[in-house]
Amino acid sequence: MSLCHKSYTWCCLRTLVSHRGFQCLTAVRDRPVGLRQHAAINRCCSTVQGEVRVRFAPSPTGFLHLGGLRTALYNYIFAKKYEGVFVLRLEDTDQSRLVPGAAESIEDMLEWAGIPPDESPRRGGALGPYLQSQRLELYNQIAQQLVESGHAYYCFCSPQRLELLKKEALRAGQTPRYDNRCRHLRPDQVQEKLAQGLSHVIRFRLEAGVEPFQDLIFGWNRHEVAQVEGDPVVMKADGFPTYHLANIVDDHYMKISHVLRGSEWLISTSKHLLMYRALGWQPPTFGHLPLLMNKDGSKLSKRQGDIFIQSFQRDGVLPEALLDITTNCGSGFNTNRMGRRIHELISEFNPSKITTHSALLDLEKLPEFNRIHLQQQIEDEERCHFLIKDLQEQIQQAYTGEIQDKEVLHEDYIKRVLHLRKGHVSSLKELVSPAYAYLWVRPSFSSQQVATLTPEAHLIASLVLKLIKERDEELTVGGLSKDLKTLAKQTKVTKYGEVMKLLRLALSGLQQGPSVAEMMVSLGPAEIRHRFLKFLQLSDAS
Ligand code: GLU
Repeated sequence: MSLCHKSYTWCCLRTLVSHRGFQCLTAVRDRPVGLRQHAAINRCCSTVQGEVRVRFAPSPTGFLHLGGLRTALYNYIFAKKYEGVFVLRLEDTDQSRLVPGAAESIEDMLEWAGIPPDESPRRGGALGPYLQSQRLELYNQIAQQLVESGHAYYCFCSPQRLELLKKEALRAGQTPRYDNRCRHLRPDQVQEKLAQGLSHVIRFRLEAGVEPFQDLIFGWNRHEVAQVEGDPVVMKADGFPTYHLANIVDDHYMKISHVLRGSEWLISTSKHLLMYRALGWQPPTFGHLPLLMNKDGSKLSKRQGDIFIQSFQRDGVLPEALLDITTNCGSGFNTNRMGRRIHELISEFNPSKITTHSALLDLEKLPEFNRIHLQQQIEDEERCHFLIKDLQEQIQQAYTGEIQDKEVLHEDYIKRVLHLRKGHVSSLKELVSPAYAYLWVRPSFSSQQVATLTPEAHLIASLVLKLIKERDEELTVGGLSKDLKTLAKQTKVTKYGEVMKLLRLALSGLQQGPSVAEMMVSLGPAEIRHRFLKFLQLSDAS
C-alpha cells in the first residue's frame, strides 16, 4: 500500500538544528515517525517502480571498508527490492590520493560479498564509462555550460593568495572561505588572463535562497551554503573536476533515481541542488544513511586496519555473516534477527524503518554471526560444496608434507567433519588450527606419555579395537557414547574419566576437544584402528 501525495499533509515545520547556516527542518505531524518516513519513501518508490537506479560511488583513495560496504549494501538491497539497477561508479577525480589497486579491489570485494553491481567499470553498461577519469570531456563541457550561463566563473587566484586568506581567517578566529574575488572580474580581464595562459580553476557561483529538500531519512533539510562557504571549485587547474561537479553530472547522466549515501554528505546536498537548479536538471531523491560507529559510539576508524573487507575475507569471515552483522546493527528492518541471507535482507527490508540514529557495530559478535552462517552453509548441499573445496585447500596449505593418509582430503571425509562440527566452530580456519590437527595428521606422543596414564592402557586399546571390529562402518556419536560407557566398565582400576583421557590421547594427542565418540566418528574405523594399533605398540614399549 502506498500513501498518496495528498494524504501527506504537514501540520507545521519546525527548525530543529540551526548550525552554520544548516537547518534540519523536521516535519511535525500527527503520525509516528516511521509512518511519516514510510509515506515519503512509498511516495517516491511507487512512482518509480521499475525505474529505480541507485549507485555506490566510492573514491578509490583506499580499500573498501565496512562503512563503504554498508552503503553499497543498502543501495543493492534498495535496487533489488524495487527491481532497479545497482551501479558502481568510481570517483577517481582526486588523482593525487589514488591508492594503487584500490579500484579493482573495491569491485572484487562487492563481488565477493555477493552484492555485485549491474553496471560498473568492469561490467560496463549503457550509461558508462563508470570511471570518472574517463569522463573528463563531459565535465568540461558542463563546466563551460555553467560559465556561459553565468553560474560559474574562472578564478585565477594563486595558491599563495588562497593560503594567505586562510591564514588571516584562522588568525581572526573565523572559518576560512574563499572571498569570491574573481566573481567580479570583467569579461575582458578574464579573456586577457586566459590568453596569457594563466593557471585557473572554475568556481560555481553560490546563490542565496536555497530551497529545502526532503531527505528520505532525515526529513526536511536546508543548508544556506552561500552564507558559510566561498564559491566552490568545480574544475581544478589540472583539468579534473571536483567531487561536487562530477558527482551531480554523473548522477544526472547515469539516470540515478535515488542517491543513498552516508550522512556525512547531507550537508553538501543543498550545494548539489543549487547546481542541479543552475543546469535545469531534475535532481534525484536523496536518502542519507546514518553513520556506522563502534559499539561505544566512537568513530569507526579505517586506521584500525581491521575494518577493511579484505581483512575479513583473509580471516575466514563469510560474506553472508558480514552483510548480516552490518544490517543487524543498523535499521531498515521490521525485526532484528541473526542469520539473514541476502534474499531475506531484500525481502525483509523496510526503508521506512531506517532511523537517523548511528548504527552501533559490535564486532565482538562477528564470530557468532559467522558460526550461524557457516552452519547454514554446511546444511545447504549445494553451498557446502564450496566449503569443502575451500577447506581442502586450507588443509593442504597448513599441513603440506605432514598428511600421511590422503583419505583426509576426500570430499566425503571433509563433509563428515563439517557436519559433525557445524554449530561448534565459527570459521573454517578454526578447523585447520592445532586444536583440530588430529583430523588431518596423525598425532605423535611418546611411550612415556602413555605410561603415565594407566596400567590398563593395553587393555583399553584392545577393547576399542574389538569394538570397532564389531561396529565396523556403523559408527554414530550416540551409539559410540553408549559403547564407550560399557567399555569403561570392563576396566578394573581405571575410572571412566581416565579412560576417556586415554582414548582422546590415542586419537588426537590432545587433552581437550570434541567428545571422544565424535572424534571417532570423524576419523572413521580404518583410521581409529590405525591409531590404536600404534598406541598398542607404544603401551607395550612403556
Ligand atoms: N565519492 C564519494 C565518497 O567516496 C561519494 C559520495 C556520494 O555518494 O555522493 O564518499
